[in-house]
Amino acid sequence: MLKISCEKCDSFVCFYQKDGPGDLKRMYVDRIYKPTVSTTRKDLSCSKGHLLGVKIIYEKEKRPAFRLFIGAVTKKIVNLKVLE
Ligand SMILES: [Zn+2]
Repeated sequence: MLKISCEKCDSFVCFYQKDGPGDLKRMYVDRIYKPTVSTTRKDLSCSKGHLLGVKIIYEKEKRPAFRLFIGAVTKKIVNLKVLE
């Protein structure tokens, strides 16, 4: 599980369960947990309004996702217990 924060202001955005290795280039909406911001809009912004990504439909799986701008967020690995 990753804790996602805004790179600019360090405000918490959401938890994210990543599937598969590699860089976090997109976040699937169905794997976002406890977001502090809207995930139903076209853009993903932090609570202070910094733009972090834009919504896409990932073609291969037809799943809505946010494509993250490079360097827009910071990721920190957290223990699953955080969600209990
Ligand atoms: Zn921010």
